[in-house]
Amino acid sequence: MARGGAGYAANSYRTDALVLRTYTLGEADRIIVLLTLGHGQVRAVAKGVRRTSSKFGATLEPFMLSRLQLVHGRNLDIITQAQSVTPYGQRIAQDYDAYAAASAMVETAERLTATEVGEHGGGLEAPSQFRLLHGALAALARGAHAPRLLLDSYLLRSLATAGWAASFTDCARCGVTGPHRSVNVTLGGSVCSDCRPPGSSTPSPDTIALLAALQSGQWDAADASDDASRREAAGIVAGYLQFHLERHLKSLAVMDQSGPPNGQRS
Ligand SMILES: [Zn+2]
Repeated sequence: MARGGAGYAANSYRTDALVLRTYTLGEADRIIVLLTLGHGQVRAVAKGVRRTSSKFGATLEPFMLSRLQLVHGRNLDIITQAQSVTPYGQRIAQDYDAYAAASAMVETAERLTATEVGEHGGGLEAPSQFRLLHGALAALARGAHAPRLLLDSYLLRSLATAGWAASFTDCARCGVTGPHRSVNVTLGGSVCSDCRPPGSSTPSPDTIALLAALQSGQWDAADASDDASRREAAGIVAGYLQFHLERHLKSLAVMDQSGPPNGQRS
């Protein structure tokens, strides 16, 4: 792991980081799960962060982009300085749908950047995962598109970055040019009539076009989609995600409930 910075000498490092999740620790501390630009996923201790007088303020809340100074510890690194770069968390918390989408994004990012997950071993594509999550949170914070569309686009692209790219144009098995009528998540998306196994679904052509637009970032087409296509596409993306992560995302379940969130994680 690269180390740098004067003063703390070789034991400290600086990095920009997105806050994925926090856990309470002891009386006043928290463990902060970070996705950093240069060091992949990092779990670090923020001492005294739960005191109202804490120097950290809101810089270490979920979805925040902060510039951090850390010191390597025996087990967990320790955050010694934190400066807010962009307070995405404060803007996202004002909109329930954006909050729910952001929660699902950071949960997925945490799984995909854990060292044991991902086709490439997780850590190698961390800078790409950082930039992808940063772009998605920034778009949520400024209300660039519907939160559910931003979430589904993020999920498809983060899975692709992890080595699990879906295809919603050409056949995912033989590559013959599409679009095709059938989708099979276990084969990686659209399948042609020759490759189509029993049990494949047949979504509406509008839904398949929306999935292709979300995967490639064609926002004019995605923004013009109707609610039925968005719901059907969301179900296919959720199935694709679950197939690869083999665990149910709590935050996706939260997306389907109404009303405000029942509280923060910590
Ligand atoms: Zn085929």
